[in-house]
Amino acid sequence: MLNNNIEKPSAGSPQRELQWQQRLYETPGGREILGCIQCGTCSASCPLTDQMDHAPRELFALVRDGAMEEVLRSNTPWFCVSCYQCMVRCPREIPVTDIMYALKRMAAEAGIFPKGHKMPGLYKIFNQDVARYGKITGSILMGRYGLRHPVDMASKMGTGLGLLKTRRFDFTPQKMVDPRKIAALLKRKRTHIK
Ligand code: SF4
Ligand code: SF4
Repeated sequence: MLNNNIEKPSAGSPQRELQWQQRLYETPGGREILGCIQCGTCSASCPLTDQMDHAPRELFALVRDGAMEEVLRSNTPWFCVSCYQCMVRCPREIPVTDIMYALKRMAAEAGIFPKGHKMPGLYKIFNQDVARYGKITGSILMGRYGLRHPVDMASKMGTGLGLLKTRRFDFTPQKMVDPRKIAALLKRKRTHIK
């Protein structure tokens, strides 16, 4: 659990980088970064490294250097697809994937996003739909995303058609029996993670 007493770092604060670093170290598994031996196994295992501005190994070096603004502005966590290849191969058993999630949460809280990256917007829509319905409906999610990013959406039509062909694209709105339980759970998590 993050320490709720740590102030949200303000822009331009000289202590900003240290506060963010401290907050990351207080997330579950965050302090494990200190045991990273910079072997690069995570980067070599990651299928998305070529898209990332910093490979996972580099990102952890930046964290330890205290260059947290650069870390939070990095597109690396937003490209992470949670495949866990890095985690299962890390010789120090560092929870790389979990740390990527923590960095995304911190970037969202700080309002810092990698320039031009579309994933933060998609995550927001995803989160809103889960809070409202308890689950997502592919067509609604992609429709809302398409309104924000029509050009990108058009470029993904082929993927959409593939999902249609394999019947993995719902048009009927999906809803849990009692979505309020999920909404309450999300609210509680947000209260704990500040
Ligand atoms: S595999 Fe583990 S120890 Fe090696 S660079 Fe990545 S996080 Fe560090
Ligand atoms: S979990 Fe994320 S960072 Fe790790 S290998 Fe997979 S995509 Fe890369």
